Amino acid sequence: MNAGKVYLVGAGPGAPDLLTLRAAELLRRADVVFHDALVHPDTIALAANAEHVAVGKRCGRHSTAQRFINKRLVDAAMKHAIVVRLKGGDPMLFGRAHEEISALGEAGIAFEVVPGVTAALAASADLGVSLTRRGLARSVAFLTPRVGAGEKRNDWARAAASADTAVIYMGIGEAAPITASLLECGVAPSTPVVVVENASLPEQKRFVLVLKELPEIAALGIAGPAVILLGEVYSELQEQALTTSVQARRA
Ligand code: SAH
Repeated sequence: MNAGKVYLVGAGPGAPDLLTLRAAELLRRADVVFHDALVHPDTIALAANAEHVAVGKRCGRHSTAQRFINKRLVDAAMKHAIVVRLKGGDPMLFGRAHEEISALGEAGIAFEVVPGVTAALAASADLGVSLTRRGLARSVAFLTPRVGAGEKRNDWARAAASADTAVIYMGIGEAAPITASLLECGVAPSTPVVVVENASLPEQKRFVLVLKELPEIAALGIAGPAVILLGEVYSELQEQALTTSVQARRA
């Protein structure tokens, strides 16, 4: 068998120029690219000679299609030399990389992972606030309360409560239960929170609040991908009243 190779490539958080040189080179040489819905069209366009296949819906909601994606990757590697699986952010963080890697492994297909800039780091760059500001934070937790079908619930809130800074992925639709779980775990209602939508993109927005107000973000019409960051490091943003109804009401 003379199968090709599958590259699981991080596309970065959104801005097309936040891509590694290695990723750009692989896209240039790719025969076929399977990409997530959130990947910027300019990034996909770098694969000028490849067939482009959109797989998955918005991140985190494509569990039913995952087995189908695995199979398509294996099939593509039978036909093509360079198969790129392009994923938002970094493939190894909330990116279902494991399922694809094991399917490729089982089929005897060679693979390689190319890292990307994850949303938490892009949001931190936009905010200009270090996740590990000296004197305030020495630990960071990347978490999601999201559980896939058939998965066991886990104790994500405890991890958030024990880290100095926490970044919550895929949490916007569940702000009220997230807040309740964090408060229950002993996180103070006055803990500084910032929500960053569309990190790294021109349409980026941030909402500065405190934990007890987090359920109110449901009313803010956040439609783009967004992360929730919390911890004392964000206290320095608290005076910058930003565009939210939460802020307007507090003022
Ligand atoms: N592998 C990706 C995460 C995929 S899960 C990474 O490393 O970034 C999808 C979640 O990532 C979204 O629900 C959102 O919480 C977050 N996300 C992705 N892109 C984002 C962006 N540009 N700004 C803010 N959050 C983003």
